[in-house]
Amino acid sequence: MDEIMDYNEAISKYDVTFGVEVHVELNTKTKVFCPAEVTFGAEPNSQTTPVSLGLPGSLPVLNEKVLESAIKIGLALNCSINEVSYFARKNYFYPDLTKNYQISQAAYPTVGEGHLDLNLENGKEFTVKIERAHIEEDAGKSNHIGGTGRIQGASYSLIDYNRAGVPLVEIVTHPNLATDGDAPQIIAQYVKELRDIFKALDISDARMERGNVRADINVSLSEKDSGELGTRTETKNLNSFRSIEKAAEYEICRQAAVLESGKTITQETRHWHEDTLSTSAGRIKSDADDYRYFPEPDLPPVVTTKEQVDKIKVSMPELPAEKRARLEAAWGFDNKSFADIVNASALDLIEEAVKAGAKPETGRKWYMGELSRWAKENQTELSSLKVTPNDIAFIEKCESSGKINDKIARTILQKVLNGEGSFESVLQKENLEIVQDSGVLEKAVDDALEQNPDILEKLKSGNMAPMGVIIGQVMKATSGQADAKAVTEIIRGRL
Ligand code: MN
Repeated sequence: MDEIMDYNEAISKYDVTFGVEVHVELNTKTKVFCPAEVTFGAEPNSQTTPVSLGLPGSLPVLNEKVLESAIKIGLALNCSINEVSYFARKNYFYPDLTKNYQISQAAYPTVGEGHLDLNLENGKEFTVKIERAHIEEDAGKSNHIGGTGRIQGASYSLIDYNRAGVPLVEIVTHPNLATDGDAPQIIAQYVKELRDIFKALDISDARMERGNVRADINVSLSEKDSGELGTRTETKNLNSFRSIEKAAEYEICRQAAVLESGKTITQETRHWHEDTLSTSAGRIKSDADDYRYFPEPDLPPVVTTKEQVDKIKVSMPELPAEKRARLEAAWGFDNKSFADIVNASALDLIEEAVKAGAKPETGRKWYMGELSRWAKENQTELSSLKVTPNDIAFIEKCESSGKINDKIARTILQKVLNGEGSFESVLQKENLEIVQDSGVLEKAVDDALEQNPDILEKLKSGNMAPMGVIIGQVMKATSGQADAKAVTEIIRGRL
């Protein structure tokens, strides 16, 4: 186990510089350089062509849609779009990379410098400086059979080339200096914002758990206010926001302990271990170019005209930051409540509920209350609950028309969450509407008064304190479905 310094001590002694490389898998119908289709979960090796298998003599042709997606990402990240960009061969050997090189962009990427503004959960702002974004192809996938599924201890490996040639855009930041110990939060939020942007642009399925978005994070420490750049490590292939934040935190604590003991940081890749929440050493990584990049002779330079970029510009959808600003103004919640909604990933759900006819406050009440609690207890996300925004609008309709009360709504909601059907169908099936039939209510009130003659006497003498006991009995008799107001009136009438 590594020596670890306490996080607060580490950030009081050192400044943290971070860099992030994010790979996003595009959702184009076909691959980046050939017409092989891309479908998640397809039969292994069923989606290949001579190009994606790297057969000799096969020639790549750039998928126009990929270029368009890369430009959209560039525009969303305030980046310059280069008029001419080139593909290059990045040479390395992997069993799942048949050509022994990956087609990527090196010195001349399609997307140049830009930045992304973040509003952090702690209320501060941070601008992440972006260096570039380039187009490249994904490699195939090795499935290690036997043991734990990792290559160590496996009996053999099977290779699936369906992923070979799936289009990727890699977004690379500049080194960014973060003070006050915010780096882990900034990195995680940066990747989250990117994920939301990819979704809004509809250029990727952007599902972290499927590896559509993967982050490599660089972290280095330097003596506080020294202005120097320390030696960095790169933790590879993180695909959840939590693991991104935890991995950055761990590397800061580990590196601080190394520096504190007078040793130096080894420039290397690190692997993240979800079970132990720690990293371990990978391979040594030098600054020198290991990859022997050279221009890809089989693809012409990519030329993007101003007209082409302008056309994409006008077709850009509303971006997450714009959407947040619009909804914050429209809904009128205070800053804190609105930030809580955003951080709970409830924004889109509440927006859907509002579109379905609910008031923003109703959406907030359910999603930030009962539903958030339920999601947390069941370790799932709000968006995967069986309750839909339509249900929320329907609940409001039923409550405001007096058909149900809050208690009934919560009872039904539990059943919906447990998968017993939509709110409307459970309401009908279980016959849970408020009892407004005055005959039923009157009988229940009379029964309760008859059973409690002492209370009846008190009520008659003007002592209204025990009224609640009678209402409680009526509620019990009607399984909580009595209209409390109507019950009160009936009792008063009996006095
Ligand atoms: Mn890459």
